Amino acid sequence: MLQSIGYGAAELNQPLDLMQFERREPGPHDVQIDIEYCGVCHSDLHTVRNEWNNTVYPVVPGHEIVGRVTYVGAHVSRFKPGDLVGVGCMVDSCQHCESCEDGLEQYCENGFTGTYNSEETQIGGMTFGGYADNIVVNEKFVLRIPDNLDPAAAAPLLCAGITTYSPLRHWGVKKGDKVGIVGLGGLGHMAIKIAHAMGAHVVLFTTTKGKKADAIRLGADEAVLSTDPTEMAAHENSFDFILNAVAAPHNLDAFLVLLKRDRTMTLVGAPASPHPSPQVFNLIMKRRQLAGSLIGGIAETQEMLDFCGEHGIVSDIELIPIQKINDAYERMLKSDVKYRFVIDMASLRNAHAEKSTDAKA
Ligand code: NAP
Ligand code: ZN
Repeated sequence: MLQSIGYGAAELNQPLDLMQFERREPGPHDVQIDIEYCGVCHSDLHTVRNEWNNTVYPVVPGHEIVGRVTYVGAHVSRFKPGDLVGVGCMVDSCQHCESCEDGLEQYCENGFTGTYNSEETQIGGMTFGGYADNIVVNEKFVLRIPDNLDPAAAAPLLCAGITTYSPLRHWGVKKGDKVGIVGLGGLGHMAIKIAHAMGAHVVLFTTTKGKKADAIRLGADEAVLSTDPTEMAAHENSFDFILNAVAAPHNLDAFLVLLKRDRTMTLVGAPASPHPSPQVFNLIMKRRQLAGSLIGGIAETQEMLDFCGEHGIVSDIELIPIQKINDAYERMLKSDVKYRFVIDMASLRNAHAEKSTDAKA
């Protein structure tokens, strides 16, 4: 077995701390990666705190992974040691169902294997994520990071980037469309940058007044305080598409009424408890649609990375040592992230080296 070190939660209500665990040895189709950076997604927090009621402890989160290939199995053709690569939210899927054949592995009819907190189908037990020094992944689920992007700032593209790019593409956002983005967090700030690069007129909705100026700096054309009814009323019946990335339950009607006839609001935020049910009349009177979307397929993730490479798009990050991860979670809950925490995995290696030296002394 391959030995790994990482930061994880041993049990519910335990802070994340240094732990050792095992992964499978790389097989013929696998790539072994030394992780350099890992983004911190709100889904990591939902999982560590068992907010979706599906967490198996111990859990090592992290699905915005960037690192260097250190070893490739005999049948790996697309990667070689030294390559800068990424791994997102999935590390496997059945690869033969209708969704997988359509390149939509995230909707695999047999259930995809998540990067963490999923069944490890080869050696049993659970998968462990990217708050770690290494990972082993089937090459089909490994992505190329464009050379011109800063590797630390590119890490959040692997989840926040694809989760926003995929619905913007699926609902056909094009030049000149008026697009609303709800919530200026990790996902929201990537959505602004990507929608702006697609040529849309971007309007950001925030509950935090202090973020309005940032929204414009990030590429929004307008920023609206969603708690101000007058500001909201000015946008009624005017949007071609709204992407809602809020991590908490809230009133969806406030945004549905902003859509034009026949247009869609897509939810990507995944709060622990449900939103209050929207008013059906807000849907039927204008044939509006309320939808959801989950990350994106592997081919589409590569397409998104290449698009970000072409447009020079990365995340605005705060690089943290892994020892600060528990504070980072508290700050994320207070919407105090500008706009994605990324863990510098050198801090994990140093912590482990110090602990080993102490043990020997
Ligand atoms: P984040 O960085 O914490 O951002 C969430 C934003 O939501 C906050 O910055 C805040 O924006 C807004 N918000 C938070 N609490 C709120 C409240 N009580 N009322 C109104 N707005 C509130 O989180 P993230 O990493 O972007 O993730 C966002 C959500 O998407 C999470 O639920 C996550 O699990 C989910 N997610 C889904 C997918 C998918 O495939 N569908 C993938 C990744 C993540 P303002 O301060 O601007 O109001
Ligand atoms: Zn995520």
